[in-house]
Amino acid sequence: MVFHKLKDWQLHRRTLEHREANGTVGFVPTMGALHQGHRSLLERARQENDHVVLSIFVNPTQFNNPNDFAKYPSTLESDLKIAEEAGVDFVILPTREDIYPDDYRYRVMETTFSKSLCGAHRPGHFDGVLTIVMKLFGLVRPHRAYFGQKDYQQLELIRGMTKSFYLNLEIVPCPTLRETDGLAMSSRNLRLTPAQRKNAPQIARLLKSSLLENKTTDWVKAELSKSGFLVDYVEDVAVGQPPETRRFVAASLGEIRLIDNLSPSEAKDLEV
Ligand code: AMP
Repeated sequence: MVFHKLKDWQLHRRTLEHREANGTVGFVPTMGALHQGHRSLLERARQENDHVVLSIFVNPTQFNNPNDFAKYPSTLESDLKIAEEAGVDFVILPTREDIYPDDYRYRVMETTFSKSLCGAHRPGHFDGVLTIVMKLFGLVRPHRAYFGQKDYQQLELIRGMTKSFYLNLEIVPCPTLRETDGLAMSSRNLRLTPAQRKNAPQIARLLKSSLLENKTTDWVKAELSKSGFLVDYVEDVAVGQPPETRRFVAASLGEIRLIDNLSPSEAKDLEV
């Protein structure tokens, strides 16, 4: 069932609650242009819950670059097909007016980790992410919400927000899905030119080889620059509980900014 009007979804959510056997709600928030990575989250949610909700909303407040927002891919027809195949029960398609009647006056912020890595290069990005996720959690009231490790910093910040605000739901981390050449799947990959697409798996290759061969982050930066990337950062950060050091990369090919991250143990298994 597809909800174009938020009001209709809100009414429906109430009826779920009043059903005798209401069961659990699994939630996958996305910005659409769905690929196999999104699908893996939906399938996991399907396995673990009675009801599965997918949201598609290209959230304007998390884009620091207006051009990136304007050119964000939209493939609604194919998204709805993927949702159906993955066994999604409800798709919600809120509008900007639905989500920001307050004109983004109220926001959720984190003051420390959100200022590093992607946050250092995309001012305000994680304020937008945390705010939209908080709003969607309020609208969907899921028992479990599924997030990809491809956006590891985002996942960590959402985990932290959930704990800090005593939100009564489980955050389920899901592994990064990759193309056969190692490139982390991303909606933005659709915008790569054929030459850029050929070059893009360098990020995963260099992450793997540098971790296995004990090469520094500076070495990775230099190699990426040689291959034509404009590098935002390559950094090692201890994340998660118990803390584990992961290597994080953000680098652009032309207008397209790509991110990835890998732990030394994952590097051994990664086929690139
Ligand atoms: P997005 O539509 O890019 O905002 O992503 C929606 C959700 O899908 C987020 O939790 C992402 O981390 C997750 N996701 C995106 N790409 C991948 C991928 N390649 N593998 C696993 N999860 C992903």
